[in-house]
Amino acid sequence: MNGFVELQRPDDAKLSGATARAEVLRERYGELEGEALLRVMLEWEYKGRIALVSSFGAEAAVLLDMVARIDPATPVIFIDSGKLFHHTLTYRGILVRRLGLSDVRTIEPIPFDLAGHDPDGALWQRNPNLCCYLRKVLPLERALGGFDAWITGRKRDHGGERGGLQTIEAVDGRIRFNPLAHWSPENIDDAFRERGLPRHPLSDEGYRSIGCVPCTEPAEADAAARDGRWRGSAKSECGIHHPRWSPTHP
Ligand code: SF4
Repeated sequence: MNGFVELQRPDDAKLSGATARAEVLRERYGELEGEALLRVMLEWEYKGRIALVSSFGAEAAVLLDMVARIDPATPVIFIDSGKLFHHTLTYRGILVRRLGLSDVRTIEPIPFDLAGHDPDGALWQRNPNLCCYLRKVLPLERALGGFDAWITGRKRDHGGERGGLQTIEAVDGRIRFNPLAHWSPENIDDAFRERGLPRHPLSDEGYRSIGCVPCTEPAEADAAARDGRWRGSAKSECGIHHPRWSPTHP
C-alpha cells in the first residue's frame, strides 16, 4: 500500500476468542468499575499481561493514581507523537515522580515512516488520518505486542462514538478495559480534589482534552470535552481505539 506499513489483521480465532472472553469477563465483573475493576484485572485476571495506555492529558492523573495505588510497576505506555505540547511532557515527569510509577514506556513513531510520508511535518494538514496512523497507531500496536489486555481512560461523557462505551470490550483480539467509562466530569473533579492530584498545566487555559498541538484547541465550558480536538473537521478519534490493522481504519 504505497509503502505504508499495514498491520496484520488478527486471525478469526483470535478475534472470536477475545470476543468470547470479554463476554465472560462482563458476566463476572460487569458491575465493577474504577479501582475495583482495575484491582481484579491487575492482580488476578491479567497479572503481568496488561498495560495502561495514558496520554498524560487533562483527566489522566486519576486513572494513573488508581493504577499506582494498586501496583506502581504496572507498565504505562505513553505515545509521544512528536507533536505534543511541551506542557504534557513536563506533566508526565511531575506525575511519574509524584505517583512513583516505575515502568513508563514512552513510544515514538519510526523515523523511517516519517521521512517517507511526513518529511515536512505537515502531514496533519494533508491527511490527518495517515498522520495519526504513523505517529500513534503503529507505535502503539508495536508496544502492545506483549500484552493480552490494556486499559484506557475513555469515558461515555466524551461524546460521539464513546457514548455507548462499556467498561470491558474486545478489540483486535485483545481485551480492553475502560474503568472510568461511566464517570462524569464532576466525578473526575472530585477525584482530583480527594486524591490531591496536580492538574495538567493547560487545564487552566480551557483545554479539556489534550492531544497534539496542531489538532487541539480549548473547548467551551458547555461543550463536550473533545470538541477542541480536530476542530472544523469530521475527525473525532485518532484511531488507536479502532481496529488498527490498516490506515483505512482511522
Ligand atoms: S493528532 Fe494531529 S498531529 Fe497528532 S498524530 Fe493525529 S493528525 Fe498528527
